[in-house]
Amino acid sequence: MALRPAVAGDILRLLDHPPVREIPHGRQIFVNRNLRLDTIDLVGFDMDYTLAIYRLRKIEELSFQMTLRRLVDSCGYPPEIGGLEYDWEFVIRGLAVDKQHGNLFKLDRFNHVGRCYHGRRPLPADDWRRLYRDVKIRLSDSARFAWIDTLFALPEAALFAQIIERLEGRGMTVDYGRLYDDIRTSIDGVHRDDTLKAVIRRDLDGFFVKDPEIGPALHKLRSGGKKLFLLTNSLFDYTDVVLGHLLDGLLPEYPSWRQYFDFIVVGARKPGFFSDRAPLLELDGEGRPVGPAGSLERGRIYQGGNLTDFERLAGLGGERVLYVGDHIYGDILRSKKSSLWRTCMVVQELEDELEHLDRHAAEVQRLSEEETLRPRLDDELNQRKLALNLLEKKLGRTEGDARLPIENERRVMKSELEQVRRALRDLNLEIQRLEDALERGMNRYWGLLFKEGNENSRFGEQVENYADLYTSRASNFLAYSPMQYFRSPRAAMPHERGEVKLAPFGEDRL
Ligand SMILES: [Mg+2]
Repeated sequence: MALRPAVAGDILRLLDHPPVREIPHGRQIFVNRNLRLDTIDLVGFDMDYTLAIYRLRKIEELSFQMTLRRLVDSCGYPPEIGGLEYDWEFVIRGLAVDKQHGNLFKLDRFNHVGRCYHGRRPLPADDWRRLYRDVKIRLSDSARFAWIDTLFALPEAALFAQIIERLEGRGMTVDYGRLYDDIRTSIDGVHRDDTLKAVIRRDLDGFFVKDPEIGPALHKLRSGGKKLFLLTNSLFDYTDVVLGHLLDGLLPEYPSWRQYFDFIVVGARKPGFFSDRAPLLELDGEGRPVGPAGSLERGRIYQGGNLTDFERLAGLGGERVLYVGDHIYGDILRSKKSSLWRTCMVVQELEDELEHLDRHAAEVQRLSEEETLRPRLDDELNQRKLALNLLEKKLGRTEGDARLPIENERRVMKSELEQVRRALRDLNLEIQRLEDALERGMNRYWGLLFKEGNENSRFGEQVENYADLYTSRASNFLAYSPMQYFRSPRAAMPHERGEVKLAPFGEDRL
């Protein structure tokens, strides 16, 4: 329904100037479900990859090399794998590992495999279709599949593929299941025994991006009357070093990072935090537990705990809490399943992907125009086939001189049919060419993070289903009011999109 002219006039007068601030596309907050920030009292943040932005390639490279060394030194892998170099481009979030066949694949939102590699060799479509087309892929079958859904897990997928490629390339047989388990054990070991974190601590500037807007963004939320909390799986000593590096003294009002937060919970053991009943412990200034916590107080540090106790002690919960995290399962999906917390997912990759798509906006536009042409040509082809069919039947029933005009018509129709067929073939090739160029420009192996072909990828679908908001960085809140009404775009089902159907072209033409 159109606005009444008077109302429309008033609105347009109000908007008759450039927007107050243009938020760059890659820094916007996107909305899956309406969220009114003025109804939120408590805003929580994860630390790693959420408040603290790692330089991805550097930390992945370190994790890759340390794990590789451990596989050779402690798990008996041949020294041939020692010289491997991390191929960061080969792994993106949202890939699945098939531990039975040694493959990596990407799924669309229907859980259909879209592309697949064995090691780093693309598997011919016939091969992977045989493996995955007729079976229902259940990623929950963790004996068979692993789902790479955190940035933290990228090196393990790369190790899996690159080691298979190296060993099989030298004629060795690989036990894929064992390899994956050994990689997991080694990578966990590198993280758990502090080997990795010790290197990071020595080079904080090298491993973290200092985001000057993160302090102001937190401050703006606090000024808007929100309480803030930190809920991280990292333990206190690491949290203190990292957040101290990123936040201490960034704003004069906050000499210490701790002052930004009303409640600080470290070692939270998410996703267990949302479903288990681990006790909440209070820590002393050195990060040592002093006993169970009877209250949550500003300026103190807590460890562990669970959702129920946290909400009771914070005196706030449910839909008045917004939690900002980067892990689709641990931070977002699990919290959605167990609590009413609203969620904002930080997807660091969004910034690059949007920049890429914006740079190629003309191609994206052309692709979408060509995709709307495709069903029209499909229809045209089918209608013409049908018409030709009917004409041939008619010809079969006709004798003598009466056949001549029908034969002429058939000749014309065949030639038109051929033209349509050629046009469709050309269009398909052109769409394929554009799609390939667009995808390869982003990632030559896997294409876009949020898409697989012209469908959403499984990862994209999960972000859409589980995160109320999503954005590239936690600091993007700075560009919005603490009273912001985040409105989701009106969802349209296919039947609402007004696709144009061609007028029937059939028997009536005969
Ligand atoms: Mg995290």
